[in-house]
Amino acid sequence: MRYMRQEKLIGKKNQELLSKKTVSIIGLGALGSVSAELLARAGIKKLVLIDRDNIELHNLQRQSLYIEEDVGKSKAVVIKEKLNKINKDIEIVSYFDNLDNENINLIKSDLILDCTDNLESRFLINEFSIKNKIPFIYASAIGTEGYLFNIVQNNACFNCIFKEIQGLETCETFGVLNSTTHLISSLQVNEAIKILLNQEYEKNLLYFNLKNNELIKIRINKSKDCSVCSKKIFGYLEGKKSKEIVKFCGSSSYLIKGKFDFDKVSNRLKKENLPITLFKNKVLIKAKDEKEAKSLFSKYIGD
Ligand SMILES: [Zn+2]
Repeated sequence: MRYMRQEKLIGKKNQELLSKKTVSIIGLGALGSVSAELLARAGIKKLVLIDRDNIELHNLQRQSLYIEEDVGKSKAVVIKEKLNKINKDIEIVSYFDNLDNENINLIKSDLILDCTDNLESRFLINEFSIKNKIPFIYASAIGTEGYLFNIVQNNACFNCIFKEIQGLETCETFGVLNSTTHLISSLQVNEAIKILLNQEYEKNLLYFNLKNNELIKIRINKSKDCSVCSKKIFGYLEGKKSKEIVKFCGSSSYLIKGKFDFDKVSNRLKKENLPITLFKNKVLIKAKDEKEAKSLFSKYIGD
């Protein structure tokens, strides 16, 4: 009954197949929260969700699952509660953490959705996906423009397309329309369902611009000398390329790796109202620049 309108299109058998699939979503912001909601409503078996951020007021313009009273709470925690209320039949596992090469096995599943906002995570997910033969769908949205690309074995990978632009990521805060992010999420879930049901999926890189409704399909060839999909060199996965300090543009936060006594530092931080989130062996610090982030780290966490 719940899926009758969807079954009219995909068929009962495919609905059953869908109910056996697990999808991982990295990033629960504008793209991830909407893609998670659509997949939960469509009736997959299980969602594995991961995000390191708390909900902020300026997220509400486009992250339609979150409401005013959620501001300040962890996205990973809030989304699990909401999705459980939407569809109690599906299993939801949610992690409040930053995805890195040490915890990446958490996202082992039938399909991975990239809903992150940074290149380092995407290169890491790409290597994991190629190594473990798990398809993944890259998505991004900015302003009125969005991109979508299915990375499935034997086709071009994320590194085939973007290796040239490493290091060129700027941290300027761009605007984005909620219509753009919802469109890209809808496309991502549409492709996800095709891949999960072994149906014909999009092979081109899709580019949309909502300003003039321009749609371009870009043919991407697999690069014969791609270090990831051709040569199987997994530098991000092996931790060789991960930096000690990473800036996350969207939230002006710095992720700093280091070893410290979690309970001790956590108790110390409770007394002060600081823009610091603790994880195992890493912290997320909101700061105006790298210098301020490092100084907060050495003052409150330790060197
Ligand atoms: Zn490649």
